[in-house]
Amino acid sequence: MLNLILFGPPGSGKGTQAALLVEKYKLLHISTGDMFRYELSNNTELGQLAKSYIDKGQLVPDSVTISMLRKRVEDNPDVGGIIFDGFPRTVAQAEALDVLLDDMGTSVSYLISLDVPDAEITERILLRGKTSGRSDDNDPEIIAKRISVYKSETTPVFDYYAEEGKSLKINGVGSIEEIFERICEEVDTL
Ligand code: AMP
Repeated sequence: MLNLILFGPPGSGKGTQAALLVEKYKLLHISTGDMFRYELSNNTELGQLAKSYIDKGQLVPDSVTISMLRKRVEDNPDVGGIIFDGFPRTVAQAEALDVLLDDMGTSVSYLISLDVPDAEITERILLRGKTSGRSDDNDPEIIAKRISVYKSETTPVFDYYAEEGKSLKINGVGSIEEIFERICEEVDTL
């Protein structure tokens, strides 16, 4: 199985690139952010709980996020591979993912990190906010919080997989096509 983690700060283009990668490599796309937004749009208890964190730019607690993710993976036993977008965001989530994939006789193939400077990230998120309808994309304070949470809680996940030689950094500045090409070059050599 080809199991990729698409990694990077908020606004680095993970969702856009994931959609292209899913198409090319026939992978299952799992975005925990999209899953929370779906729950919210259906006004479920999980959606309401997630909203209380999302609206502050904080992470939804690991226990909640991991069990939601686990269920999605277990519900799709026959896929050829998975692209994880926005997960894992903490080392505890990475450890849980490793156990889950190990139980399925597979593992993370690579973590691909999109490298984009802070100033460009904020600009991109504010631009996306004009059309995404996401309240967390429109408030500079929430955006700043999301970036700081990424630096403190999420970047250790890069180091976690780097220890196994699985973390790759890709220049995330350029056109969508250019960045996609850079990612494919790496994936094709796996
Ligand atoms: P995203 O669409 O990936 O930018 O996620 C939007 C928001 O959903 C984040 O700011 C978090 O509040 C929450 N979220 C998404 N994925 C996770 C995760 N793996 N762990 C915790 N919270 C998450």
